[in-house]
Amino acid sequence: MRTKIVAGNWKMNLDVDASKQLAMDISVAIQNLETNNTRIIIAPTATNLYPVFHQPSMDSRVEIAAQNMHQAKNGAFTGEISAEMIHSVGITNVILGHSERRTYFNETDAALAEKVSTALQNNLDAIFCFGEVLEERQSNNHFKVVESQLQNALFHLNDSDWRNIVLAYEPVWAIGTGETASPEQAQEMHAFIRTVIAKKFGNTIAQNVSILYGGSVKPSNAKEIFSQPDVDGGLIGGAALNTADFVALIVAIQ
Ligand code: PEP
Repeated sequence: MRTKIVAGNWKMNLDVDASKQLAMDISVAIQNLETNNTRIIIAPTATNLYPVFHQPSMDSRVEIAAQNMHQAKNGAFTGEISAEMIHSVGITNVILGHSERRTYFNETDAALAEKVSTALQNNLDAIFCFGEVLEERQSNNHFKVVESQLQNALFHLNDSDWRNIVLAYEPVWAIGTGETASPEQAQEMHAFIRTVIAKKFGNTIAQNVSILYGGSVKPSNAKEIFSQPDVDGGLIGGAALNTADFVALIVAIQ
């Protein structure tokens, strides 16, 4: 059975106190919630990973993810953090390939292929993001684009690596815009993604990998999106910064 996941990407928001507070508020709010087979992940900014993770009395179901890491083991890469550093503070997940990283920091598929491998070598689960921009969808190239993003960044993996991979399909035109892919558009693409993975790695891996949808998910649209058969949860931006909204998304996926 695939794991359901609600993951919040806090981006470059919240100082250390506000991050700790939001994490605690989420912890308290889910205290009496049954969350069977659902992973809950929050991704504070790098400086706040350690203080958020090491708060006493955080609900143990709340996992932490870093938002990015460098592909090299270590070295002269001023301003970057390594997989080993992330793991050394107790964190076991990292988001890779978010469209903001691709757009503003020129992350290429080739760099992401290395990042995914480095993450796995350092015992981090990789939440791998990908998706088409608006012009690619309008020109009906979205399937081709998504297939090549997957091929270029993930096709070098071994079968066993897939135990530690989560996919996050995020159509770029739906991120932070208020524009959401319709549940049918999300389902159509998620089913396609599974066929791409199945062709290369076989049906078992394709059926077992969790595929999240990301792009303006909020309490009012979550239930419909999450109920699609190939949608296993969401990668959430804006709505992850509000306790009530984020918890409503966790409720919506049950
Ligand atoms: C994101 O940044 O991954 C995202 C999906 O943002 P939002 O939910 O705000 O569209």
